[in-house]
Amino acid sequence: MITELAPLPASVPETDVTVCPACPHATASHDAIATRFCAATASGVLHRGCVCTR
Ligand SMILES: [Zn+2]
Ligand SMILES: [Zn+2]
Repeated sequence: MITELAPLPASVPETDVTVCPACPHATASHDAIATRFCAATASGVLHRGCVCTR
């Protein structure tokens, strides 16, 4: 049995990591504070970048 991998669309990064809409970091890398901060940033409340630790 051969399992073929579906080709990725050109617009999708090489990984399946979901990128935060408010910063260039992966949402999975956010802690609770960063998640809330970026959510506020994405909604237009704040414009101070992000508070990610990396
Ligand atoms: Zn973020
Ligand atoms: Zn970030």
